[in-house]
Amino acid sequence: MGSGGGLEDLYREVILEHYKSPRNRGRLEGADALRVELQNPTCGDEIQLSLAVRDGVVADARFTGRGCSISMASASMMTEALKGRSVDDAVLLSRDFKGMLSGGQAPEHLGDLVALSGVAQFPVRVKCATLAWNALLRALGQSATEEP
Ligand code: ZN
Repeated sequence: MGSGGGLEDLYREVILEHYKSPRNRGRLEGADALRVELQNPTCGDEIQLSLAVRDGVVADARFTGRGCSISMASASMMTEALKGRSVDDAVLLSRDFKGMLSGGQAPEHLGDLVALSGVAQFPVRVKCATLAWNALLRALGQSATEEP
């Protein structure tokens, strides 16, 4: 807070960088691709997420959509974090990410995703950050409705 050049600035840079240069933009067209569209009406964010899951592993993850910097940066970081993870791992990651945004601890496997931890202080923006993750949980057949 107010010290300048601190962690918050670094986090803001990471978010803006992903917003300006999103990773894994696009859509997977294969018949076996899992595709989910989800919206966050409170902010106007929308995302279309595509996943390729092979042998229980997320082989590829792409997204398209539009929205605020938080929603798009979160989607970009999520697709990066997902590739090569098992489905079980991906579900655990999303639970831990959402836990962090509810004010919980940020386990080490969240990596760069801790850049979004500050969103927890702004409850109205939490749905921006969790939009992509709720799309992920839905694509993987997990219930995602009862949590933020
Ligand atoms: Zn938003």
